[in-house]
Amino acid sequence: MKNTPRPMAEEKTGEVMEKIVSLCKRRGFIFQSSEIYGGLNGFWDYGPLGAELKRNIKDCWWRSLTQRRDDVVGLDASIIMHPRIWEASGHTSTFSDLMVDCLLTRKRFRADQVDPQSGIAYFYSGARDEATGKQCADPFSVLVPRGKPPESARKTARQFYQQRGLENPTPEGERAEPIESTTRYNPENGSLLTEPRPFNLMLKTYVGPIESADNLSYLRPETAQAIFVQFKNVLDVSRQRVPFGICQIGKAFRNEINPRNFTFRSREFEQMELEFFVRPDEVVQKMAGSVAGLADPQATAALDTPQTNWGWELWHKYWVEQRLKWYESIGLSRDRLVEYWQKKDELAHYARATVDILYKFPFGTQELEGIAARGDFDLKQHQQFSGKSMEYFDEEAKAKYVPHVIEPSAGVDRLALALICNAYCEDQAPDEKGNLETRVVMRFHPRIAPIKVAVFPLLKNKPDLVSKAKQVRDLLRPHLTVFYDEAGAIGRRYRRQDEAGTPFGVTIDFDTLGEKGPELKDTVTLRDRDSMKQERVKIDELAAVLVQKVS
Ligand code: ATP
Repeated sequence: MKNTPRPMAEEKTGEVMEKIVSLCKRRGFIFQSSEIYGGLNGFWDYGPLGAELKRNIKDCWWRSLTQRRDDVVGLDASIIMHPRIWEASGHTSTFSDLMVDCLLTRKRFRADQVDPQSGIAYFYSGARDEATGKQCADPFSVLVPRGKPPESARKTARQFYQQRGLENPTPEGERAEPIESTTRYNPENGSLLTEPRPFNLMLKTYVGPIESADNLSYLRPETAQAIFVQFKNVLDVSRQRVPFGICQIGKAFRNEINPRNFTFRSREFEQMELEFFVRPDEVVQKMAGSVAGLADPQATAALDTPQTNWGWELWHKYWVEQRLKWYESIGLSRDRLVEYWQKKDELAHYARATVDILYKFPFGTQELEGIAARGDFDLKQHQQFSGKSMEYFDEEAKAKYVPHVIEPSAGVDRLALALICNAYCEDQAPDEKGNLETRVVMRFHPRIAPIKVAVFPLLKNKPDLVSKAKQVRDLLRPHLTVFYDEAGAIGRRYRRQDEAGTPFGVTIDFDTLGEKGPELKDTVTLRDRDSMKQERVKIDELAAVLVQKVS
């Protein structure tokens, strides 16, 4: 696991996040898992609106890769797979984060996430209880901010030695030293942390009735490996030819040391991964006579149309561009996204190049997706560990090879959180009496908005309005997610839908019934969430108008 770099200075905006978290619960986007039992750290449940949002994200991603292209096919593999897969992929031996524990509270941190601090470090060689004569020879250290009296360090040290059986300890051998930018101390209480130790992030389970080492298995920490191990099967049945891709959406599990930032780092989450198989550069060279790369201005200017002479560099850049465009198509503008090219020393051992697509979350600029050029590492590993050939015969190139791969790997939950943060907005709107009030509005792109349209009869107690509104609802239902609401004043109903992020509202009023003349009969008011503009639309045309606006 790598530590995603933060390329820009970030201000912590806890207040915005608090509002977002509270809206998520209040409106049913996201709930804490097992809440009535006190919750389970790192696990989340999606409520009615959140479930729709996630479904829309996954549908958009799936459609953009499978339905809208002819060179990508889908897979839906099992979560628990043969444990040898994780040996081959390197997860058993290297899928770990360095962790440190607070010596006082035992709280665990990811070593690379401890913020550097400066101050005066107080060192103790041990402690002694004068009354009982008991001693403890464990060394300990405390970091206190400059200017704070040594007594505060001694107080923390006393707690440490009390936990080691001394009732009334006096810390001994005190020595003080100024220290700059250290990550060896717990930022919350100044206590020394343990030395960093690797911690494997895979969640274990046993398959079958006996809990023995032979039955040990893992909940997959990523969906990608299933794609590699099914590469040959998919190839045989799909009649695809390299270059082509296999994509998958599914759950992944990581026993993260510090789940944090709401759903951003969870222990159970969903991934959307594509493995796009390409020819090795040597084969491209043989076939096309040359290999176009990033240094080729003509090729980089026409990145939308893949060419036979493209090497892995251009395929990689192509997918970065495709993915950025996709994010834009669901409402994340480029100015909220950062394309971060990992430096050589940040690259995972198998990667030739990796681009992280980062989003400017309120809590910092953080990774949404990683796009890695992985060479032939994965297929070769599985070839070696399974003993089954992963070679492909390329009829066009008249060559046999193990394909190379470009992997765009995104998280559904992180994206849902980014979209929620991106949508959250407070503005001013008139209330029932025309006075301006603050409204919370979730400005989701219509494509991913959980509910596309709300249908309201102007008044609940007028049967003609209610029955017409229900007709309109039923007319729209086959095409879009519709929410029917007749409760409360119309302004309140609009507000509720603004908070849910519903882009369109349809009101059935007396004009619809033709009470003010025939020209407006069978027309409705269509209100746009963002501009709050209203237009009259014929009921007959409504479904087509709305479908066009949300697709
Ligand atoms: P990080 O550095 O943030 O731990 P990573 O680089 O290990 O992430 P990858 O292994 O590249 O992540 O996983 C691909 C994608 O899966 C990430 O970009 C992210 O969107 C998602 N993802 C990974 N870990 C988590 C997690 N713990 N919770 C939610 N989403 C995750």
